Amino acid sequence: MEQLPEGCGYRGYEFGAVSYPDSLCCGRKLYDADNCDNDGTLFDPMEDIPCPMCRQQDAVEYWQRQFELGGDSRSDAMFNARSLVDNIRKRSGHRHRTREDDTAEMKHLITF
Ligand SMILES: [Zn+2]
Repeated sequence: MEQLPEGCGYRGYEFGAVSYPDSLCCGRKLYDADNCDNDGTLFDPMEDIPCPMCRQQDAVEYWQRQFELGGDSRSDAMFNARSLVDNIRKRSGHRHRTREDDTAEMKHLITF
């Protein structure tokens, strides 16, 4: 079995699951934890989604692109991407994230 590249341990919600973390950092990019075969081996991601912890600037640029594709103006997209990544980084130090946090984040992500 192929060994996944080592990540920083970040787990997030980038792939749309609401009730559990569905992304994890391997080799500084995010894998979709739901995207695996029957043995639980993760598939390589189709696109390079930068880990917001390992690659803050890349992650901001990635989300800015996503927001722009979703119709945000360039300045809105930049602002939204910055605050999204900032929030992720702030929160990841906290063990007890609340359901309200998750819901607010998902609402934000769903808008694009
Ligand atoms: Zn990472």
